[in-house]
Amino acid sequence: MSDGQGAAIKVIDAFDLDDELRSLLKPGEMVLDDRKRRHRLPRYFYEVPSHEAAQAIRLTQHFGLNEFILVDLRETERLQQFPRYIPCAVRVLAFYLEQFRAAAGASVHVAVNGGYRSPMHKMSTHATPHMWGTAADIYRIGSTILKTKETIEKYNELAEDVAEEIDVYPYGHVTGNTADDHVHLDLGYITVVPREISEDRMEVPQEAKPRFAFEERRRKERRSAAESGAAAFRPPPAG
Ligand SMILES: [Zn+2]
Repeated sequence: MSDGQGAAIKVIDAFDLDDELRSLLKPGEMVLDDRKRRHRLPRYFYEVPSHEAAQAIRLTQHFGLNEFILVDLRETERLQQFPRYIPCAVRVLAFYLEQFRAAAGASVHVAVNGGYRSPMHKMSTHATPHMWGTAADIYRIGSTILKTKETIEKYNELAEDVAEEIDVYPYGHVTGNTADDHVHLDLGYITVVPREISEDRMEVPQEAKPRFAFEERRRKERRSAAESGAAAFRPPPAG
């Protein structure tokens, strides 16, 4: 599979997870957004084995996986235990956040509960891209805490200028579609089918042995691993 030098992230089909996890993550289920449109929840997730792994795995140069799974008691207890799961589309989000960071010229900080939120999260009252791993609530940029109309509108505009795909919540006090203490940006309801996964299975729990894949390492990661000589992660033997 890989050269075995580490940093491979495990990709799973959520239909292979146990009954409890499936009932919490709801792969493939339809949920309504605040305008009664239906959206299908993601099916393919990264499996994060430990807190240390979450901290070590980088999605882009400046964004680590851990930044997108920070939650408090509003997330269901089981989903706060490792291994944890996050939709594979989070990689796309990290890419756009990296562009946003460059445009802002400062570090971008995702809030607690501001990355991935499961369908069971108390803030998941209707479909929002947070449940797809494609939204981020940003509470601080550089040393600026985002809590004034002026700063939120400034960075909202900057985010919208980064790419047409980015949507933001306007400044306002109605939770869910406006924001007055953070910048919410999202990419909509993107689901990702990782190239390492085969899509030959039904959308039902599988009788046969679960299958999974390890994301093939990116060229850049291979290069930096070779340079540092460090192997952050070594996948366990398959099977
Ligand atoms: Zn948000």
